[in-house]
Amino acid sequence: RISARDIDLVFATANGPHRAVEAASLEIQPGEFVSLLGPSGCGKSTLMNCVAGFVKPTRGEVLLDGQAVVKPGPDRGMVFQQHSLFPWKTVKQNVAFGPLMAGVGAREADSVARTFLSLVGLSRYASAYPTTLSGGMQQRVGIARALANYPSVLLMDEPFGALDAQTRSMMQENLLEIWSEFKNTVLFVTHDIDEAVFLSDRIVVMSASPGRIIADIPVRLARPRT
Ligand code: ADP
Ligand code: ADP
Repeated sequence: RISARDIDLVFATANGPHRAVEAASLEIQPGEFVSLLGPSGCGKSTLMNCVAGFVKPTRGEVLLDGQAVVKPGPDRGMVFQQHSLFPWKTVKQNVAFGPLMAGVGAREADSVARTFLSLVGLSRYASAYPTTLSGGMQQRVGIARALANYPSVLLMDEPFGALDAQTRSMMQENLLEIWSEFKNTVLFVTHDIDEAVFLSDRIVVMSASPGRIIADIPVRLARPRT
């Protein structure tokens, strides 16, 4: 369960303080899929980075299952628009990296990596290097990597933003399939309203200058959700 309470985030810039997020409060229940929707620059990434622990709010706090977030942790899997895979590691090594860092043994980490590569349909590419894969495949590796620590929370920042329309819609369906298996709590940043409607249980809308939450809307769609 994610609780962000009254978050302000002010960046110090050359032109003085810049308020990216103002008085943002947000509750996400376990297993809920919530999209954070709004125009570019409205503060979505900044608010998500507070939940991730990359950025410390100027005011307010983020709680994860009642615990204050102070830094990133393996309980939060992250997927970015730019996949940020290690180019010098193979696909499988990229996915195994998180578990290894979390202290899982080499053999177990390898087996976890295989499991998640199979889940995203990339078993055949385990020994390939990321740069040899297409953009969509690289994002699937990114998702496998984010899931490999069995995080309770999945934070996704425009993960499909750089993909062509067809790949994007395939990835959206893949993501829902995967999510229905793990039921992680998901916070998904997008500026695409159709994507938000297709994927989420709830849409939280932000507006710029300063970044405020202006609406919090349940989504009702005639599509199967198990
Ligand atoms: P979004 O994700 O909705 O596109 P961001 O959270 O990336 O928006 O940015 C919100 C605002 O904060 C923008 O005006 C952006 O330029 C500014 N901003 C983001 N990161 C920084 C930073 N590190 N330093 C200064 N300003 C920033
Ligand atoms: P988004 O795709 O969310 O809009 P951006 O492309 O705006 O992200 O920002 C990419 C990176 O640059 C982020 O790490 C953000 O914090 C940083 N950034 C954005 N705006 C500024 C700014 N005005 N000054 C410094 N860093 C910024």
